[in-house]
Amino acid sequence: MRALIRSQGVRLAARPTPQPAPGEARIKVAFAGLCRTDLQVADGLIPVAEPRVLGHEFSGWIDALGAGVEGLRVGQPVAVMPLLPCGACFGCRHARPCAAPRLLGVDRDGAFADHITLPAAAIYPIPEDLPLRRAAFAEPLAAALAVLEAGLERGERGAVYGQGRIAALTLRVLRHAGFERVEPVEDAASLGLDAYDFIVETRLDAAAWPLLIAATRPQGRLVLKSRATGAIQIDPLAAIQKHLTLKAVYYGAFPEALRLLRGGLEVDDLLATPRPLEEHAAVFEAARLGETTKPLFAL
Ligand SMILES: [Zn+2]
Ligand SMILES: [Zn+2]
Repeated sequence: MRALIRSQGVRLAARPTPQPAPGEARIKVAFAGLCRTDLQVADGLIPVAEPRVLGHEFSGWIDALGAGVEGLRVGQPVAVMPLLPCGACFGCRHARPCAAPRLLGVDRDGAFADHITLPAAAIYPIPEDLPLRRAAFAEPLAAALAVLEAGLERGERGAVYGQGRIAALTLRVLRHAGFERVEPVEDAASLGLDAYDFIVETRLDAAAWPLLIAATRPQGRLVLKSRATGAIQIDPLAAIQKHLTLKAVYYGAFPEALRLLRGGLEVDDLLATPRPLEEHAAVFEAARLGETTKPLFAL
């Protein structure tokens, strides 16, 4: 099969088609989205064991079943929650979020390939009337839905800070959920002082941090939503003196993302025209230049 791998750079390679182990299913990939995470792996900012197949946002059809898998059938259209719980940490043992999940395309081979094998528990059958191209957007939407678990109040004045499709999607999720007083802010310098009851950041760096703190009112809430890798320098005292709540969120419910994709939340305008895997270099390069729409590969 074809696979886009990180191995001293990124290249398309021929790899053996994987066979599903007991408890796993094999998926024939239909569409796969390119994420900031994939770019960071491609650029060596997130180290991986090489060779590693990239990609974690995708849809497809069940193609083969390993022993003991129930509730899935060959030919079924599916989407995948690409973060696999470790099964051993405190969170996993106490029905809380896993503290050390393995991400496809980083810790395990990913979805920029003709086929992928996965534990059945990560696979979600989707309705026949949900287009596979849209279903490939389920993981970013599940990530955006995390803001609904930040304890925000609907009547409050809020801002979504950032640019591009992630900020746009986060804003849409909040408005769809009834947050009417939330607005987009692209430039952190224009946030103002004590201007918001809450701010959701979708892009974080050392320059934005003090501006986000300054713009959140005393006893307000700053939601950490982006997944900036690496350390940034922060001055905690400004947040302390304002009694701010800093709330980190990661994912909302994956089934809820699939429900919203089926109808109710407009996302098609955030998806780019799918391109073949062979055009990966151009697709990666365009993604580095801007994040307006979600780049997609059609397998
Ligand atoms: Zn992603
Ligand atoms: Zn765990």
